[in-house]
Amino acid sequence: MSDQNIGVADPHSFIPARRVEQLEAFREKYAAERDKRLTKEGADQFQAIDFTGKFADFDADPHVDGPRTSEPVSLDLDVLVIGAGFMGMTAGIELEKIGITDYKILDVAADFGGTWYWNRYPGVRCDVESYIYLPYLEETGYVPTERYIRGSEIFAYCQSLARKHGLYDHAVFQTRVTDMEWNEDTARWAVRTDAGDEFRARFVATQSGLFTRPHLPGIPGIETFAGHSFHTSRWDYAYTGGDDSGNLEGLRGKKVAIIGTGATGLQVIPQIADFADELVVYQRTPTQVMPRQNAETDLEWFSALTPGWHRERRAAFDKCVQDRATLSDVDDGWVKFAKYQMDAVFEAGGENPSIEQLIDAMERSDYEWNEMLRDRVDAIVADESKADKLKTYYRTMCKRPGFSDEYLPAFNKDSVDIVDTASTPIERITETGIVADGQEREFDLIIYATGFQGGRTWTDKAGYDVLGRNGNRLSKKFADGLSTLHGFLSKDFPNLFLLGFTQTATITNIAHLIDEQARHMMYLIDTCVSSGARTIEPTAEAEQAWGKVMSDQTATRTDWLLTCTPGLYNNEGKITDSRNPLVTGVFVPGFQYFDLLEDWRADGNLEGLVTEH
Ligand code: NAP
Repeated sequence: MSDQNIGVADPHSFIPARRVEQLEAFREKYAAERDKRLTKEGADQFQAIDFTGKFADFDADPHVDGPRTSEPVSLDLDVLVIGAGFMGMTAGIELEKIGITDYKILDVAADFGGTWYWNRYPGVRCDVESYIYLPYLEETGYVPTERYIRGSEIFAYCQSLARKHGLYDHAVFQTRVTDMEWNEDTARWAVRTDAGDEFRARFVATQSGLFTRPHLPGIPGIETFAGHSFHTSRWDYAYTGGDDSGNLEGLRGKKVAIIGTGATGLQVIPQIADFADELVVYQRTPTQVMPRQNAETDLEWFSALTPGWHRERRAAFDKCVQDRATLSDVDDGWVKFAKYQMDAVFEAGGENPSIEQLIDAMERSDYEWNEMLRDRVDAIVADESKADKLKTYYRTMCKRPGFSDEYLPAFNKDSVDIVDTASTPIERITETGIVADGQEREFDLIIYATGFQGGRTWTDKAGYDVLGRNGNRLSKKFADGLSTLHGFLSKDFPNLFLLGFTQTATITNIAHLIDEQARHMMYLIDTCVSSGARTIEPTAEAEQAWGKVMSDQTATRTDWLLTCTPGLYNNEGKITDSRNPLVTGVFVPGFQYFDLLEDWRADGNLEGLVTEH
């Protein structure tokens, strides 16, 4: 580590940072920046969108011509999978492997892909290396064209995976679950939909994703805007022209506002800046912008990878990024930051640092890393006032860091302005524009890059309730937080597999988590089927014990989360709000959770679960 400020030689590569000694000064500055952004409403600051009301257009599917036209069905099934993203596709593929072919995969979308079905905005790409992100790469032999491929390539890969495994024969698209009820006599779930279907399934696998339903800021007057507006996850190419590679010719001559500068904002803003006459970015919290380091795939390197590489590469990446436990060949921004921190800890305390040395070195190196990124902003953005607004003052993992080589340069265009709304929120939206910072500006188009509903209850996010055994409702059981064994099964809701962030793990590469969850679920379903078990559910004691593991895990993060700038990971600063599963129930680091599940399976006695025959 260098002890001097070396400066920014090449702003598109990672460079050594200056040595930071005055930790207290940084703590104060970061706390002041956090306090500016804390709101008394927390996660309730966002509109609870009434999808049938005045905001219905914000949730409508821009990729279809109309609603589902097929007739309602009434079917008995072995398994119903709700959600056709990576999780639903993996479930289908793995069910076939254990000999279960009587299943359906249901989704509101009109195709497979999940996140990649909805998020087709210009510039969309994966932010984790595609070689560890895409599932089944070894099985399909598919070679991603780039290190960070476009959303359209991921979506096309999903479609080809679905074709290859015959998943389209099992798909029920453009269909939303309305309710689900357990039938004790038949030991099946009756699942009803908005298209009038009824599925009676022995097992149901469902998820209430973090990034499924868009949310809108609760800015007064939002519904009065008479120009055009949409959410990034429902991009309106009919208005903007172009596709996910850009070419937004429809924006020529237009005045555009965008609200939100998270990972989505970072990817989309440079694309808009290339075409709009005027672009105003309304920012509350800047995102850390590391170099992207994208490149075409080195075919020679890819073809030399040896069997088992995919799983090994994923595991090494997670261990490096989450626990600083090992190095990873991925060597991207996530890994470089982890390595930087590992070096700092080693420098402070050698192989066996004390807890104090470890905490001190992690904090100091984080400040140094941010100093480097702030220098990078100065090196790229010529206008000092814009550059100042784009600098981040919070610890790196308080928010998901971003990667881009185009975002910061976009602010060098005279046509691109940035309004800081950290201390003074956007006042209101009018019929013609936005009032903020004491100024009203007029726009033709307002784009909301404001993310997805995170801090809501499981049933709110799912959009339906579940009636289990003995009249128990999931909405009631989960009202004060989730309660499961290992994040999969909940007492009184037999044979219902909860997937996603339900007291499971948190991980940078979510695709890896999905893979591990599908593996565990298949073990449970296979065990039931092969032993002739009618039902499977946890004991109350096992559920409580897992709840204790979760609360102990939460306790280790509470102080850290409190220092963070408000966001999804700390429930917008209200970390006692039990609705956000990322705050109240995740296992960190993820690979320890995977090991725990593997050990539990190896024991082979379904500890904590009861089966009825
Ligand atoms: P996000 O991370 O939730 O960001 C939402 C943005 O909207 C934030 O900048 C937020 O500011 C801003 N915002 C919300 N209300 C506001 C208000 N009233 N005034 C001003 N600004 C406001 O959403 P996202 O960028 O769509 O990302 C969602 C998730 O998807 C993230 O976890 C992200 O990492 C992931 N993602 C991944 C990729 C990929 O490449 N794989 C791409 C895009 C997104 P504050 O920060 O101040 O709240």
